[in-house]
Amino acid sequence: MSKVAFIGLGNMGGGMAANLAKAGHEVRAFDLSQDALDRAAGRGATAAADAAEACAEAEAVITMLPAGKHVADVCRKTVFTAAPKTAILIDCSTIDVETARTLGNEAAFAGFTMVDAPVSGGIAAAEGGTLTFMVGGSAEGFERARPFLEQMGKAVIHAGEPGAGQAAKICNNMLLGATMIATCETFALAQKLGLNLQTFYDISSKASGQSWSMTSYCPVPGVGPETPADRGYEGGFAAALMLKDLKLAKEAAETSGAYTPMGGEAEELYERFVQRGGGTKDFSGIIKMIDDSWVPPERK
Ligand code: NAD
Repeated sequence: MSKVAFIGLGNMGGGMAANLAKAGHEVRAFDLSQDALDRAAGRGATAAADAAEACAEAEAVITMLPAGKHVADVCRKTVFTAAPKTAILIDCSTIDVETARTLGNEAAFAGFTMVDAPVSGGIAAAEGGTLTFMVGGSAEGFERARPFLEQMGKAVIHAGEPGAGQAAKICNNMLLGATMIATCETFALAQKLGLNLQTFYDISSKASGQSWSMTSYCPVPGVGPETPADRGYEGGFAAALMLKDLKLAKEAAETSGAYTPMGGEAEELYERFVQRGGGTKDFSGIIKMIDDSWVPPERK
Protein backbone atom coordinates (compact mmCIF):
# COMPACT_ATOMS: atom_id res chain seq x y z
CA MET A 1 0.00 0.00 0.00
CA SER A 2 1.09 3.57 -0.63
CA LYS A 3 1.77 6.77 1.24
CA VAL A 4 -0.90 9.26 0.20
CA ALA A 5 -0.98 12.98 1.06
CA PHE A 6 -4.57 14.27 1.22
CA ILE A 7 -5.10 18.03 1.37
CA GLY A 8 -8.64 19.39 1.91
CA LEU A 9 -10.78 17.30 4.24
CA GLY A 10 -14.14 19.05 3.97
CA ASN A 11 -17.52 17.61 3.04
CA MET A 12 -16.07 15.60 0.17
CA GLY A 13 -12.40 15.13 1.10
CA GLY A 14 -13.24 13.78 4.56
CA GLY A 15 -15.04 10.71 3.20
CA MET A 16 -12.57 10.22 0.34
CA ALA A 17 -9.54 10.24 2.66
CA ALA A 18 -11.31 7.79 4.99
CA ASN A 19 -11.94 5.40 2.08
CA LEU A 20 -8.26 5.47 1.09
CA ALA A 21 -7.27 4.75 4.70
CA LYS A 22 -9.84 1.93 4.83
CA ALA A 23 -8.27 0.46 1.69
CA GLY A 24 -4.96 0.22 3.57
CA HIS A 25 -3.10 3.32 2.36
CA GLU A 26 -1.04 5.38 4.80
CA VAL A 27 -2.94 8.67 4.51
CA ARG A 28 -1.23 11.83 5.75
CA ALA A 29 -3.88 14.48 5.85
CA PHE A 30 -3.89 18.25 6.10
CA ASP A 31 -6.61 20.91 6.27
CA LEU A 32 -6.56 24.50 7.51
CA SER A 33 -9.53 23.58 9.71
CA GLN A 34 -8.48 21.80 12.90
CA ASP A 35 -11.97 20.26 13.18
CA ALA A 36 -11.70 18.70 9.73
CA LEU A 37 -8.21 17.44 10.56
CA ASP A 38 -9.36 15.90 13.84
CA ARG A 39 -12.24 14.14 12.07
CA ALA A 40 -9.86 12.70 9.47
CA ALA A 41 -7.50 11.52 12.20
CA GLY A 42 -10.45 9.75 13.81
CA ARG A 43 -11.12 7.94 10.53
CA GLY A 44 -7.76 6.32 9.88
CA ALA A 45 -5.60 9.20 8.57
CA THR A 46 -2.53 10.69 10.26
CA ALA A 47 -2.82 14.43 10.86
CA ALA A 48 0.10 16.42 9.41
CA ALA A 49 1.27 19.72 10.91
CA ASP A 50 1.13 21.38 7.50
CA ALA A 51 0.76 20.57 3.80
CA ALA A 52 4.53 20.15 3.38
CA GLU A 53 4.67 17.50 6.10
CA ALA A 54 1.75 15.67 4.44
CA CYS A 55 3.59 15.68 1.09
CA ALA A 56 6.99 14.46 2.31
CA GLU A 57 7.61 10.91 1.01
CA ALA A 58 4.15 10.78 -0.62
CA GLU A 59 3.60 8.47 -3.59
CA ALA A 60 0.37 10.31 -4.44
CA VAL A 61 -0.79 13.81 -3.49
CA ILE A 62 -4.54 14.39 -3.65
CA THR A 63 -6.14 17.82 -3.31
CA MET A 64 -9.88 18.41 -2.68
CA LEU A 65 -10.18 22.16 -2.23
CA PRO A 66 -12.91 24.78 -2.83
CA ALA A 67 -11.71 26.54 -6.01
CA GLY A 68 -8.86 27.15 -8.48
CA LYS A 69 -7.14 29.80 -6.37
CA HIS A 70 -6.82 27.39 -3.42
CA VAL A 71 -5.44 24.59 -5.58
CA ALA A 72 -2.97 26.94 -7.32
CA ASP A 73 -1.85 28.33 -3.97
CA VAL A 74 -1.28 24.92 -2.37
CA CYS A 75 0.47 23.52 -5.45
CA ARG A 76 2.76 26.52 -6.06
CA LYS A 77 3.62 27.22 -2.42
CA THR A 78 3.95 23.65 -1.20
CA VAL A 79 3.26 20.59 -3.35
CA PHE A 80 5.63 21.46 -6.21
CA THR A 81 8.49 21.94 -3.73
CA ALA A 82 7.69 19.51 -0.90
CA ALA A 83 6.50 16.36 -2.70
CA PRO A 84 8.94 13.82 -4.19
CA LYS A 85 9.07 14.14 -7.99
CA THR A 86 7.96 10.50 -8.19
CA ALA A 87 4.55 11.36 -6.66
CA ILE A 88 1.50 11.46 -8.90
CA LEU A 89 -0.45 14.68 -8.28
CA ILE A 90 -4.23 14.34 -8.44
CA ASP A 91 -6.53 17.35 -8.08
CA CYS A 92 -10.11 16.22 -7.44
CA SER A 93 -11.53 19.72 -6.80
CA THR A 94 -13.90 21.37 -9.30
CA ILE A 95 -11.93 24.31 -10.70
CA ASP A 96 -11.78 26.40 -13.86
CA VAL A 97 -10.36 24.76 -16.98
CA GLU A 98 -7.66 27.41 -17.48
CA THR A 99 -6.19 26.98 -14.00
CA ALA A 100 -6.29 23.18 -14.38
CA ARG A 101 -4.38 23.41 -17.68
CA THR A 102 -1.87 25.91 -16.30
CA LEU A 103 -1.21 23.82 -13.20
CA GLY A 104 -0.79 20.69 -15.34
CA ASN A 105 1.89 22.52 -17.36
CA GLU A 106 3.58 23.98 -14.28
CA ALA A 107 3.64 20.54 -12.66
CA ALA A 108 5.26 19.04 -15.76
CA PHE A 109 7.83 21.88 -15.79
CA ALA A 110 8.61 21.09 -12.13
CA GLY A 111 9.10 17.41 -13.04
CA PHE A 112 5.74 16.00 -11.89
CA THR A 113 2.90 14.15 -13.55
CA MET A 114 -0.42 15.80 -12.62
CA VAL A 115 -4.02 14.99 -13.51
CA ASP A 116 -7.24 16.88 -12.92
CA ALA A 117 -9.87 14.43 -11.66
CA PRO A 118 -13.08 16.21 -10.64
CA VAL A 119 -15.96 14.13 -9.39
CA SER A 120 -19.61 13.60 -10.08
CA GLY A 121 -21.59 12.53 -7.02
CA GLY A 122 -22.08 14.37 -3.75
CA ILE A 123 -21.22 13.84 -0.10
CA ALA A 124 -23.01 10.46 0.10
CA ALA A 125 -21.01 9.16 -2.88
CA ALA A 126 -17.78 10.46 -1.32
CA GLU A 127 -18.64 8.60 1.89
CA GLY A 128 -19.76 5.46 0.10
CA GLY A 129 -16.83 5.33 -2.34
CA THR A 130 -19.15 5.57 -5.34
CA LEU A 131 -17.93 8.75 -7.03
CA THR A 132 -17.41 9.06 -10.78
CA PHE A 133 -14.04 10.59 -11.70
CA MET A 134 -13.40 12.32 -15.04
CA VAL A 135 -9.70 12.56 -15.55
CA GLY A 136 -7.64 14.99 -17.62
CA GLY A 137 -3.99 14.25 -18.22
CA SER A 138 -1.59 12.01 -20.10
CA ALA A 139 -2.32 8.29 -20.54
CA GLU A 140 0.54 7.60 -18.14
CA GLY A 141 -0.89 10.02 -15.56
CA PHE A 142 -4.31 8.41 -15.89
CA GLU A 143 -2.92 4.91 -15.33
CA ARG A 144 -0.97 6.04 -12.28
CA ALA A 145 -3.94 7.88 -10.77
CA ARG A 146 -6.48 5.16 -11.54
CA PRO A 147 -5.68 2.72 -8.65
CA PHE A 148 -6.16 5.51 -6.09
CA LEU A 149 -9.33 6.85 -7.69
CA GLU A 150 -10.85 3.36 -7.96
CA GLN A 151 -10.74 3.08 -4.19
CA MET A 152 -12.91 6.18 -3.88
CA GLY A 153 -15.29 5.68 -6.79
CA LYS A 154 -17.34 3.41 -8.98
CA ALA A 155 -16.16 4.79 -12.34
CA VAL A 156 -12.89 6.37 -13.50
CA ILE A 157 -12.95 7.76 -17.04
CA HIS A 158 -10.09 9.28 -19.04
CA ALA A 159 -11.52 12.47 -20.56
CA GLY A 160 -8.40 13.59 -22.47
CA GLU A 161 -5.49 15.97 -22.05
CA PRO A 162 -4.81 18.17 -18.95
CA GLY A 163 -7.94 20.21 -18.14
CA ALA A 164 -10.25 17.79 -19.97
CA GLY A 165 -11.58 16.39 -16.70
CA GLN A 166 -12.68 19.88 -15.63
CA ALA A 167 -14.07 20.58 -19.10
CA ALA A 168 -16.19 17.39 -18.97
CA LYS A 169 -17.40 18.21 -15.46
CA ILE A 170 -18.61 21.73 -16.26
CA CYS A 171 -20.14 20.72 -19.60
CA ASN A 172 -22.08 17.95 -17.84
CA ASN A 173 -23.24 20.25 -15.05
CA MET A 174 -24.24 23.03 -17.45
CA LEU A 175 -26.47 20.50 -19.22
CA LEU A 176 -27.80 19.30 -15.86
CA GLY A 177 -28.61 22.85 -14.66
CA ALA A 178 -30.38 23.71 -17.91
CA THR A 179 -32.40 20.46 -18.05
CA MET A 180 -33.42 20.83 -14.41
CA ILE A 181 -34.82 24.32 -15.04
CA ALA A 182 -36.56 23.12 -18.22
CA THR A 183 -38.06 20.22 -16.24
CA CYS A 184 -39.27 22.57 -13.48
CA GLU A 185 -40.95 25.00 -15.86
CA THR A 186 -42.50 22.12 -17.77
CA PHE A 187 -44.13 20.76 -14.61
CA ALA A 188 -45.35 24.27 -13.72
CA LEU A 189 -46.99 24.55 -17.14
CA ALA A 190 -48.40 21.00 -16.98
CA GLN A 191 -50.03 21.84 -13.66
CA LYS A 192 -51.56 25.06 -14.99
CA LEU A 193 -52.93 23.10 -17.95
CA GLY A 194 -54.65 20.73 -15.51
CA LEU A 195 -52.55 17.65 -16.21
CA ASN A 196 -52.12 15.07 -13.47
CA LEU A 197 -48.39 15.40 -12.74
CA GLN A 198 -47.80 11.69 -12.13
CA THR A 199 -49.50 10.92 -15.45
CA PHE A 200 -47.42 13.56 -17.19
CA TYR A 201 -44.27 12.09 -15.59
CA ASP A 202 -45.26 8.60 -16.83
CA ILE A 203 -45.66 9.97 -20.36
CA SER A 204 -42.70 12.33 -20.55
CA SER A 205 -40.19 10.00 -18.89
CA LYS A 206 -40.94 7.46 -21.64
CA ALA A 207 -41.24 10.02 -24.44
CA SER A 208 -38.80 12.42 -26.05
CA GLY A 209 -38.88 14.85 -23.09
CA GLN A 210 -37.01 12.28 -21.05
CA SER A 211 -33.83 13.38 -19.25
CA TRP A 212 -32.04 12.50 -16.00
CA SER A 213 -33.61 15.60 -14.39
CA MET A 214 -37.08 14.37 -15.37
CA THR A 215 -36.80 10.62 -14.90
CA SER A 216 -34.26 10.04 -12.14
CA TYR A 217 -34.30 13.31 -10.20
CA CYS A 218 -37.85 14.54 -10.61
CA PRO A 219 -38.29 17.95 -8.87
CA VAL A 220 -41.94 17.21 -7.96
CA PRO A 221 -42.59 15.52 -4.60
CA GLY A 222 -44.45 12.23 -4.74
CA VAL A 223 -43.79 11.79 -8.46
CA GLY A 224 -41.23 9.34 -9.85
CA PRO A 225 -38.49 7.79 -7.69
CA GLU A 226 -37.68 9.22 -4.26
CA THR A 227 -35.62 12.39 -4.69
CA PRO A 228 -34.69 15.47 -2.58
CA ALA A 229 -38.13 16.87 -3.58
CA ASP A 230 -39.59 14.27 -1.21
CA ARG A 231 -37.43 15.60 1.62
CA GLY A 232 -38.32 19.29 1.27
CA TYR A 233 -35.38 19.78 -1.11
CA GLU A 234 -32.91 19.09 1.73
CA GLY A 235 -29.70 17.13 1.07
CA GLY A 236 -28.72 16.29 -2.50
CA PHE A 237 -26.66 18.71 -4.61
CA ALA A 238 -26.71 22.24 -3.16
CA ALA A 239 -27.91 25.02 -5.48
CA ALA A 240 -24.84 27.09 -4.47
CA LEU A 241 -22.57 24.38 -5.92
CA MET A 242 -24.65 24.22 -9.11
CA LEU A 243 -24.24 28.00 -9.39
CA LYS A 244 -20.47 27.64 -8.92
CA ASP A 245 -20.32 25.11 -11.78
CA LEU A 246 -22.53 27.26 -14.05
CA LYS A 247 -20.24 30.24 -13.45
CA LEU A 248 -17.25 28.08 -14.41
CA ALA A 249 -19.11 27.00 -17.56
CA LYS A 250 -19.91 30.62 -18.44
CA GLU A 251 -16.27 31.61 -17.92
CA ALA A 252 -15.10 28.70 -20.11
CA ALA A 253 -17.65 29.62 -22.80
CA GLU A 254 -16.38 33.22 -22.83
CA THR A 255 -12.75 32.11 -23.00
CA SER A 256 -13.34 29.56 -25.76
CA GLY A 257 -15.87 31.63 -27.75
CA ALA A 258 -18.72 29.11 -27.37
CA TYR A 259 -22.34 30.36 -27.58
CA THR A 260 -24.22 28.93 -24.57
CA PRO A 261 -27.48 30.89 -24.13
CA MET A 262 -29.25 28.14 -22.16
CA GLY A 263 -26.27 27.76 -19.83
CA GLY A 264 -26.22 31.55 -19.36
CA GLU A 265 -29.93 31.63 -18.55
CA ALA A 266 -29.51 28.76 -16.05
CA GLU A 267 -26.66 30.65 -14.38
CA GLU A 268 -28.81 33.79 -14.01
CA LEU A 269 -31.75 31.83 -12.59
CA TYR A 270 -29.59 29.94 -10.07
CA GLU A 271 -27.93 33.24 -9.09
CA ARG A 272 -31.39 34.64 -8.29
CA PHE A 273 -32.38 31.47 -6.41
CA VAL A 274 -29.22 31.59 -4.28
CA GLN A 275 -29.72 35.33 -3.58
CA ARG A 276 -33.22 34.54 -2.38
CA GLY A 277 -31.81 32.10 0.19
CA GLY A 278 -31.96 28.84 -1.79
CA GLY A 279 -28.19 28.19 -1.78
CA THR A 280 -28.24 25.30 0.69
CA LYS A 281 -31.34 23.67 -0.84
CA ASP A 282 -31.04 20.91 -3.40
CA PHE A 283 -30.78 22.42 -6.88
CA SER A 284 -34.17 20.95 -7.88
CA GLY A 285 -35.75 23.29 -5.27
CA ILE A 286 -35.56 26.01 -7.93
CA ILE A 287 -39.02 24.78 -9.01
CA LYS A 288 -40.46 26.95 -6.22
CA MET A 289 -38.90 30.05 -7.74
CA ILE A 290 -39.71 29.19 -11.36
CA ASP A 291 -43.37 29.60 -10.49
CA ASP A 292 -44.16 31.35 -7.18
CA SER A 293 -47.77 30.20 -7.43
CA TRP A 294 -46.74 26.59 -7.93
CA VAL A 295 -48.39 24.27 -5.42
CA PRO A 296 -46.76 20.87 -5.08
CA PRO A 297 -49.21 17.97 -5.31
CA GLU A 298 -50.15 16.13 -2.12
CA ARG A 299 -47.69 13.33 -1.33
CA LYS A 300 -49.39 10.01 -1.97
P1 NAD B 1 -15.60 22.12 1.64
O1 NAD B 1 -15.62 23.60 1.71
O2 NAD B 1 -16.48 21.32 2.54
O3 NAD B 1 -14.09 21.58 1.88
C1 NAD B 1 -12.94 22.23 1.42
C2 NAD B 1 -11.87 22.09 2.52
O4 NAD B 1 -10.65 22.67 2.04
C3 NAD B 1 -12.22 22.82 3.82
O5 NAD B 1 -12.18 21.89 4.90
C4 NAD B 1 -11.14 23.90 3.95
O6 NAD B 1 -10.74 24.15 5.29
C5 NAD B 1 -10.00 23.27 3.15
N1 NAD B 1 -9.01 24.22 2.67
C6 NAD B 1 -9.21 25.39 2.01
N2 NAD B 1 -8.02 25.97 1.70
C7 NAD B 1 -7.06 25.12 2.16
C8 NAD B 1 -5.64 25.15 2.15
N3 NAD B 1 -4.96 26.17 1.60
N4 NAD B 1 -4.98 24.12 2.72
C9 NAD B 1 -5.64 23.08 3.29
N5 NAD B 1 -6.99 23.00 3.35
C10 NAD B 1 -7.68 24.01 2.79
O7 NAD B 1 -15.87 21.75 0.11
P2 NAD B 1 -16.40 20.33 -0.47
O8 NAD B 1 -17.89 20.32 -0.49
O9 NAD B 1 -15.63 19.24 0.18
O10 NAD B 1 -15.94 20.48 -2.00
C11 NAD B 1 -14.58 20.33 -2.40
C12 NAD B 1 -14.53 20.41 -3.91
O11 NAD B 1 -15.35 19.38 -4.48
C13 NAD B 1 -15.07 21.73 -4.49
O12 NAD B 1 -14.25 22.11 -5.56
C14 NAD B 1 -16.48 21.38 -4.94
O13 NAD B 1 -16.95 22.20 -5.99
C15 NAD B 1 -16.30 19.94 -5.38
N6 NAD B 1 -17.53 19.12 -5.34
C16 NAD B 1 -18.34 19.15 -4.24
C17 NAD B 1 -19.51 18.37 -4.22
C18 NAD B 1 -20.42 18.39 -3.01
O14 NAD B 1 -21.54 17.83 -3.11
N7 NAD B 1 -20.02 18.97 -1.88
C19 NAD B 1 -19.81 17.55 -5.30
C20 NAD B 1 -18.95 17.50 -6.40
C21 NAD B 1 -17.79 18.29 -6.40
